[in-house]
Amino acid sequence: MKALVKARPEPGLWMERHPVPEIGPDDVLIRVHKTGICGTDIHIWNWDDWAAKTVPVPMITGHEFAGEIVELGRDVKGLSIGQRCSGEGHLIGHQSRQSRAGKFHLDPATRGIGVNEQGAFAEYLRLPAFNVVPLPDGIDDEIGAILDPLGNAVHTALSFDLVGEDVLITGAGPIGIMAAAVARHVGARHVVITDINQDRLDLAARVADVIPVNVATQELREVEGALKMKEGFDVGLEMSGNQIALDQMVENLVMGGRIALLGIPPGKSPVDWSRIVFKAITLKGVYGREIFETWYKMIAMLENGLDVRGVITHRFAVDDFRDGFAATLSGRSGKVVLDWG
Ligand code: NAD
Ligand code: ZN
Repeated sequence: MKALVKARPEPGLWMERHPVPEIGPDDVLIRVHKTGICGTDIHIWNWDDWAAKTVPVPMITGHEFAGEIVELGRDVKGLSIGQRCSGEGHLIGHQSRQSRAGKFHLDPATRGIGVNEQGAFAEYLRLPAFNVVPLPDGIDDEIGAILDPLGNAVHTALSFDLVGEDVLITGAGPIGIMAAAVARHVGARHVVITDINQDRLDLAARVADVIPVNVATQELREVEGALKMKEGFDVGLEMSGNQIALDQMVENLVMGGRIALLGIPPGKSPVDWSRIVFKAITLKGVYGREIFETWYKMIAMLENGLDVRGVITHRFAVDDFRDGFAATLSGRSGKVVLDWG
């Protein structure tokens, strides 16, 4: 089969031929139709310190996918050949306290496909049947291929009650933009999204009914004034990984406000903790998706009017994967989807 592989410990990915994976009794084999390029794949492409430390080579990359089941392991029940699906790319253990409590997304032994285990940028993917998420007919393959990052957005956005609340999202990357759409969908009052990249703010305004603010040129306080907000935002969703954005969020939050942090800062960064303490702010770190509650909620919302298709700005055949990575690396794209034919 064709596979997009981190074949050598240096920048780039290479299209190679690999054997179709053999499946175990509890696995399924999935024929991959479409895949999404993620920031994680860019780290692996660039071969930065995190990637060099984390990813063994050779490794088939990729974890955002949609496809169809073509083979069932001997013990698999409740799934069938031909079932269209996406799937959770975090492979969990079943021994930890959290896992045994049913909080699978908190299992410390989690391994990621495309990072620690052979991934989805291939014609075929082996996946534990447990991880399969069947797709209803109303969700097509390109949306199926971005459910992983949409799930990050949904998990973060649903961390706190947003009904009637004023929400600040820092970072209008694909996930921030989708979180903005989710926040509106579930009934937030004002949703303000910030970035310093005008292309991304323009995209955000096209995808969701939100107020884009370029913090390089505009003051958040003025925006709050124009919206007749008096005491600051109720909830913050940090989706940039940028220290300045977090500081700005804390400053613009109401007393007792809540922040969900998805963005990953590049290293240690100084935090003004006393400001957070005196404002009585609640902070929640968010990792991955709740398995499988986030999947359930996002599919339900997609079937009930949530529309994030506009966040997909580029589509390429997989043989043109270099163009897809170039589009992602440009910082001007939303989601980039590769078609595996
Ligand atoms: P992205 O890098 O495409 O988007 C981040 C955006 O933040 C960019 O558009 C950038 O211009 C913007 N930004 C930079 N400085 C800013 C500032 N001062 N104020 C406002 N915006 C600023 O990332 P993405 O793919 O949308 O992912 C969002 C974040 O979530 C990333 O940090 C990513 O690493 C992280 N992430 C975390 C998890 C998790 O499980 N915790 C999963 C996926 C992604
Ligand atoms: Zn991803």
